[in-house]
Amino acid sequence: LFQVNGHNPGSDGQARESLREDLQKFLGGEVLLHQLDDLTKVNPVTLETVLRCLQARYMADTFYTNAGCTLVALNPFKPVLHLYSPELMREYHAAPQPQKLKPHVFTVGEQTYRNVKSLIEPVNQSIVVSGESGAGKTWTSRCLMKFYAVVATSPASWESHKIAERIEQRILNSNPVMEAFGNACTLRNNNSSRFGKFIQLQLNRTQQMVGAAVQTYLLEKTRVVCQAFSERNFHIFYQICKGASEDERLQWHLPEGAAFSWLPNPEKSLEEDCFEVTREAMLHLGIDTPTQNNIFKVLAGLLHLGNIQFAPSEDEAQPCQPMDDAKCSVRMAASLLGLQEDVLLKTVLIRTIRAGRQQQVFRKPCPRAECDTRRDCLAKLIYARLFDWLVSVINSSICADTNSWTAFIGLLDVYGFESFPDNSLEQLCINYANEKLQQHFVAHYLRAQQEEYAAEDLEWSFISYQDNQPCLDLIEGSPISICSLINEECRLNRPSSAAQLQTRIETALAGSPCLGHNKLSREPSFIVVHYAGPVRYLTGGLVEKNKDPIPPELTGLLQQSQDPLLLGLFPTNPKEKTQEELSGQSRAPVLTVVSKFKASLEQLLHVLHSTTPHYIRCIKPNSQGQVQTFVQEEVLSQLEACGLVETIHISAAGFPIRVSHQNFVERYKLLRRLRPHTSSGPHSPYPAKGLPEWCPHAKEATLEPLLQDILHTLPFLTQTKATPG
Ligand code: ADP
Ligand code: MG
Repeated sequence: LFQVNGHNPGSDGQARESLREDLQKFLGGEVLLHQLDDLTKVNPVTLETVLRCLQARYMADTFYTNAGCTLVALNPFKPVLHLYSPELMREYHAAPQPQKLKPHVFTVGEQTYRNVKSLIEPVNQSIVVSGESGAGKTWTSRCLMKFYAVVATSPASWESHKIAERIEQRILNSNPVMEAFGNACTLRNNNSSRFGKFIQLQLNRTQQMVGAAVQTYLLEKTRVVCQAFSERNFHIFYQICKGASEDERLQWHLPEGAAFSWLPNPEKSLEEDCFEVTREAMLHLGIDTPTQNNIFKVLAGLLHLGNIQFAPSEDEAQPCQPMDDAKCSVRMAASLLGLQEDVLLKTVLIRTIRAGRQQQVFRKPCPRAECDTRRDCLAKLIYARLFDWLVSVINSSICADTNSWTAFIGLLDVYGFESFPDNSLEQLCINYANEKLQQHFVAHYLRAQQEEYAAEDLEWSFISYQDNQPCLDLIEGSPISICSLINEECRLNRPSSAAQLQTRIETALAGSPCLGHNKLSREPSFIVVHYAGPVRYLTGGLVEKNKDPIPPELTGLLQQSQDPLLLGLFPTNPKEKTQEELSGQSRAPVLTVVSKFKASLEQLLHVLHSTTPHYIRCIKPNSQGQVQTFVQEEVLSQLEACGLVETIHISAAGFPIRVSHQNFVERYKLLRRLRPHTSSGPHSPYPAKGLPEWCPHAKEATLEPLLQDILHTLPFLTQTKATPG
């Protein structure tokens, strides 16, 4: 063995590798692998060993693994009830050293909780949960909320209040409500969150959870009017249609079996379709039954709005008309939304333009496609406002008085890095957010490593680690970046083709090392080389999406609604002039989707920077949601996307092998045989006591451990950069 190893490591790599594999199999290395509960302790730290370790653990039904300061959570795709019981929560909570227990989301929960407690001055904490769609982010955040609802409450509150009245219960109730309105069945996840969420759990001086505040990001409002093949609209629409009583069906004009074009795949039956659960939770959050009914009536109105199809007009000067069989839908929609039928139609069919110094009003009938766009825009506008309003109602129900809490634990459930064959503004925003979070993570991880090395008195230098700042400069930097260029197009409001935008980006940002070469693409696009890999963004439609224009007439229409809920959502008070109205005025700053997102991201990062962060990376072992199936390539691409590969590289660039002194002595004591004269005595590096003498008669019994030791030493001896140790 040593002979092979003694050669130049590069010269006979293959032979060595196969020998190593054979030996590992012979010695049952796979068995050992699944017992390793920290990926940075896999020897050596490489992608291959990390993957094999995760796979071995997954097959052994072990779903959590540490990776330095990160927790990797593999989605079991099956209920594992014993893993989430309140008893287990209490066990982790009561453990003197929870990190000594098996890796678990509760270890992170408890560690975080103790960080708040252990310091004299409370320090805010945050837990960033990331991963691709369906990996288990929302599940994990919910699990953490339940954990705190059990461990961060006073026994008194259990006795003095009924369950439903307790604040923890109200906080937990926010989940089904937000999920009913913000989640949908997609190809990748039956209960996919279509928004990002940061929830701040507020703790008082005695570390009891006394309230919470929710902030949401980028709701995918287009889903209201457009669903990809095989996907569905937001759960709430199906809940209403399936769960309404006879009486409610009459009120909301929802006869059983009615077909709605915005309600595809209604036959799919999901556990998320439970109307009762949503209503109950809303009630506990203080949304009374009349208000709920008002909300559902408006949503039913949106469904009818979606059934309005227009027939093209033969004369351009004349407005289009609804198709014959859509006339009834117009009537229903108008009645449910508290609007006059003719006013609703006129607003959708005819555009109002103000021009000239006197701001004269001109009216122009819209072509059919534009009528469709305006109808969709109306629905998206209502739904987005309704969602924001719900979040604010939830906040007012669960948020504690500023004076009553002193620290918080923030939970961030954020969409992971995305890369599809065609990407657009949504992916640009999501990946931009992930770049920011990755930078935050790496800075934290490097700091943690440095602190550890300093504590061990080790000399170190992080040689060639590449920060992702150049990529962020490309996306958001000043004065010129992708964001600034797209925003400028919106501000100038000039007609500009997708190809022109591509050229502008390529010319203005040619110097950036993160702008990829885009020679092969037929459609106008540009490539950003993200930390998780290159992504191609189409330039077509980017500017329009970024503007997200809302014709002022539509807002005006809703301000005239007779419906109390809509009237509240669209106030006429000039002080509360909305962004959409403002952008109609020439001197108002143009608030684009990108600039709003950037502002909320900066705010989030500001909050995160003020906390001690903890990270949970959720991984989907296979894309089919199958039990006991681990697809290495798919996991690898997720490890890449969530930055774990970077972490592994950073780990490997520092000291890739960490063994406690005691374990080191245990492991290598057999090698004393090679150096019998230096193994004891005054200059020996080993403690004089506690080392069993080498026993020459135990040859058989010691052969296997010796081989194992050498096997573990092998990569260490050949690959180490960390010679000081
Ligand atoms: P994400 O929010 O990352 O898109 P979810 O949290 O909604 O994904 O998880 C998708 C599905 O995977 C859940 O609906 C659930 O069925 C399953 N799942 C995720 N984590 C677990 C877990 N720890 N135990 C059991 N099932 C899980
Ligand atoms: Mg989710």
